[in-house]
Amino acid sequence: MSSLDPREPMVFDLRELGRRAGSMMEVDRTVPAPADLGGGVAVVPPGSEIDLRLRFEAVVEGVLVSGTAAVTVVGECARCLDRVEWDETVPFSELFLHEPGPEEEELPVLDGEYLDLEPVVRDAVVLALPLAPLCRADCPGLCVECGARLADDPSHTHDRMDPRWAALAGVETTEKED
Ligand SMILES: [Zn+2]
Ligand SMILES: [Zn+2]
Repeated sequence: MSSLDPREPMVFDLRELGRRAGSMMEVDRTVPAPADLGGGVAVVPPGSEIDLRLRFEAVVEGVLVSGTAAVTVVGECARCLDRVEWDETVPFSELFLHEPGPEEEELPVLDGEYLDLEPVVRDAVVLALPLAPLCRADCPGLCVECGARLADDPSHTHDRMDPRWAALAGVETTEKED
């Protein structure tokens, strides 16, 4: 009796594959992205499409899954805070065991004839997301003085005079005039 719900989008039924080492099955499946995929400055929006291209191979100890997950990533430019969106194809491969191995191996275990790929996809995608995405490699970012986007106004400068000094300068001028 399996505790996995075969209707879950990333649960795969391996009955067709069988247990004979060397048998192989290829599956392409488009699934909705689960919640909380990514974090901080770059995420895969929940419900957006993930295109999985998968290959399941029966081996003596279990099933080797390899493939790619094509996702759309939405993030914020680390310099100018503009929204950035791009496609990322993330490769992964994982061995699922028939029976739990020694604890230090930490390999996932098949649930009867079912395999839950979500943790594998999640780990691979999260690792592939950049910590500081940029809208373009040479994004000039924001003006530290006023927050203006320097890409819109590359020659942007400020009179470095602090208003308090400007006031003093005004007093000086008045004194000189006396
Ligand atoms: Zn930028
Ligand atoms: Zn400025």
